[in-house]
Amino acid sequence: MQPISPEHVPKILSPRLRLLFGSLIVLLPLIVIAGAISIPFNFESSSILYKFGLDRQLLLAGQVMGLVAGCLLLLQITLGARLKCLDRVFGLNRLFKYHRFNGFIIAGLVIIHPIAIFISDDRIFIPLQWRYWPEFVGLFLMVLIGLMVITSHWRIGLRLAFHRWWPIHRAAAILAVFAFGFHVLSVNDTFEQKLPRILAIGALVLCGLIFLWIRTRRLRNKRKSFRVAAVEPAGADALCLKIVSDVHHMPAYLPGQFSFITLTSTRVSSEEHPFTIASSPTGSAGLEFVVRTTGDWTGQLKNLQPQDRVFIDGPFGLFSHLLLSEQKEIIMIAGGIGVTPMLSMLRYMADHNDQRKITLIWSNQTPNNIILPHEFKNLAGLLKGLRIVHVLTRAPECSGEQGHLDRPKLKRLLSNCSRSSAVFVCGPAQMMQDVYSRLVSLGFQRQMIFMERFSL
Ligand SMILES: Cc1cc2nc3c(=O)[nH]c(=O)nc-3n(C[C@H](O)[C@H](O)[C@H](O)COP(=O)(O)OP(=O)(O)OC[C@H]3O[C@@H](n4cnc5c(N)ncnc54)[C@H](O)[C@@H]3O)c2cc1C
Repeated sequence: MQPISPEHVPKILSPRLRLLFGSLIVLLPLIVIAGAISIPFNFESSSILYKFGLDRQLLLAGQVMGLVAGCLLLLQITLGARLKCLDRVFGLNRLFKYHRFNGFIIAGLVIIHPIAIFISDDRIFIPLQWRYWPEFVGLFLMVLIGLMVITSHWRIGLRLAFHRWWPIHRAAAILAVFAFGFHVLSVNDTFEQKLPRILAIGALVLCGLIFLWIRTRRLRNKRKSFRVAAVEPAGADALCLKIVSDVHHMPAYLPGQFSFITLTSTRVSSEEHPFTIASSPTGSAGLEFVVRTTGDWTGQLKNLQPQDRVFIDGPFGLFSHLLLSEQKEIIMIAGGIGVTPMLSMLRYMADHNDQRKITLIWSNQTPNNIILPHEFKNLAGLLKGLRIVHVLTRAPECSGEQGHLDRPKLKRLLSNCSRSSAVFVCGPAQMMQDVYSRLVSLGFQRQMIFMERFSL
């Protein structure tokens, strides 16, 4: 058994503390939104003085929606900023999910906001006059947000490569905050009054600070500098990237967590990509990533040379068995390269001689796609409670389990597993969705099914 170095595993928040911090954190934006909603009522604009009845209500509703959209824009930047304090409570995957959902709400609000105001004003068009520039900035913002949501949600359908879309999305977010600031501070006289103006400028300064924090991340990560120790084959179209640190301490991480890595090599472009740390925090001297090399960027990794530098931003995520009780029975369901978080957890369990019952159902297209087959065999020998079931989807000539993980197959394979087991699922998006609904229909508890998306 490997020596255990506890300093490599970070302190974990108990579920109770996570719930407490989570509730407090959720309360904060709700308070800000409630404050923003009260502004048009407490600091009326002069335009409202000439409005009565339905027109007045519509104008107020329009103003409220604009302000709520502004607050959600601030929240949106916070959600996308990879703040460690939020990750430890919610997990980055979940934060990015809210980020996507929040984008739709903002888009909806910025569309309804001018419609309500125009109807209350009996207007259809904005006259092409200089004095209406704040309204035109608002119109620009509406189009910008619409484009951001469309290109984010339908990026793959629009054939936009991630490395091209991502910098544009980030620049558009900065532009959106500026446009919102100009619009809200000049579109009516509410924000000429002292308190609303101070609050709006304060929120914009906060956004600026978050942007600054994001932009300086690479500088800060220079402290977490690693170098490539080895690049080894890990199966067909997969390799194992081993990196070591020049500084004394390794970053603490939970088995199953992931990091963003950036390489500074003349042979690989310096994009930032997320990968699970496949090593165990107690078992190895460096960090190890197992990467499927079929993409544009991952395909370049074979060109890496020992000594090339690597920067790490992370670890992130809550996809780890260490967040559960030590006795909990575990089921792992992986699709292809989605097995990497499971590998890290199993390696950690082997380091700790963990003998609990674990079932790993691992779906691959063909036997060639199985990464590190010898190591998994080895782990099955070390972990007495581990049962590994290989399922192949495109190898009818092979013996063993065949086809997709449909309900009858899952029911049969999990027949002797407790329905209160913790289930970790990671793989292609569609497979994860299908497996989730099948697990629920088989009686597994929703709150005990943990999913890790391999796309942001
Ligand atoms: C939390 C997490 C953990 C992951 N762990 C692993 C792992 O252990 N092993 C592994 O092989 N893969 C892992 N991935 C997937 C891996 O990040 C992508 O496959 C890789 O970034 C694709 O790069 P590419 O340009 O070569 O591929 P492409 O074929 O060009 O892109 C395929 C898809 O990958 C995603 N992608 C591309 N570039 C980026 C980027 N810079 N940042 C984020 N997503 C991007 C996009 O959704 C894109 O559509 C993980 C992803 C996430 C989110």
